[in-house]
Amino acid sequence: MQEQTVTFEGLCSVCGFKGTFAPENASPRDCYPCPQCRFTLRYRDQASVILDFFGNGAVESFNNLAAHPSMKGMHIVEFAMGGPFIRYLCRLPHYQQAYFFESEEQIQAHQGKVLHVDITSMPFANNSLDLIITSDVLEHVPDVQRAFSECARVLKPGGVHVFSIPVKYPIPKQNLVRATMKNGVLDHREPPHYHISGTKEKVLVFTDFGEEISTLAKQAGLRLMVSQRSAPLATCLRNYTFAAIKF
Ligand SMILES: [Zn+2]
Repeated sequence: MQEQTVTFEGLCSVCGFKGTFAPENASPRDCYPCPQCRFTLRYRDQASVILDFFGNGAVESFNNLAAHPSMKGMHIVEFAMGGPFIRYLCRLPHYQQAYFFESEEQIQAHQGKVLHVDITSMPFANNSLDLIITSDVLEHVPDVQRAFSECARVLKPGGVHVFSIPVKYPIPKQNLVRATMKNGVLDHREPPHYHISGTKEKVLVFTDFGEEISTLAKQAGLRLMVSQRSAPLATCLRNYTFAAIKF
């Protein structure tokens, strides 16, 4: 597409790099890697939304967010094995890296560093977290409604779950449930589709999301904000970042 041949001058909301961004991949969400930190549009957009909530208008990148005094008291849980945020947020006293591991061996291998957590049944107290971060996780969760209910339970009032999910452009009206899991029994309703997980394994996509995700969040007690960053480039308008706020 012609728009993806365009370069632009910008600021990386992850590492703070200022300079020229060029397209390198075909996927609009995963193009325009930062020349310095290599993180692509979807991560940088997610970083920008987190900065909107926690940067107090005073910081322009994750590189200086973690050093901001207001962050010291923030209780943050991030579901990730990689990505741009861990290296910055791990400096904070109340940051916890989490992941849903598939095996006991993996749980043991990461003990003391990455907490094994099922997002639909979290080991955190009610009203205890300021921020939950997931990046392309929710599409792999069989019961999204339960995940949102758990987020609503553990977030403080005003706390936020900032997440990315792959979505078509424009966002379809309905969710497409590709598979269900009931009492441990997997049922495929659509041809199975997989992504590669943070531990380099194939993981099944349960849901292709549509606007209906707002209703699911609302039913759980979260108000869903959908953000399209306002970059002067059509490609940037193809990526959405979501923030589900506890009210
Ligand atoms: Zn960068």
